[in-house]
Amino acid sequence: MTDKVFICIQCGQEFAWTEDEQEYYIQQGLKPPLRCWLCRSAVAAAKKDKFRGQLKTPQKKDKKDS
Ligand SMILES: [Zn+2]
Repeated sequence: MTDKVFICIQCGQEFAWTEDEQEYYIQQGLKPPLRCWLCRSAVAAAKKDKFRGQLKTPQKKDKKDS
């Protein structure tokens, strides 16, 4: 296997998908990445924020109900 170059669907930048990563993805049965590392970490951070927001909402409701 060799390194592959993908174009990020989010920012349009080229990024390399290295041999090691390809092996890891195949071992884990994952699909090839669509986004570069930067965009993926941004998505992961956004998901964390969303999760945090979801945790806050029930706490507020509980206070109102009681
Ligand atoms: Zn990107």
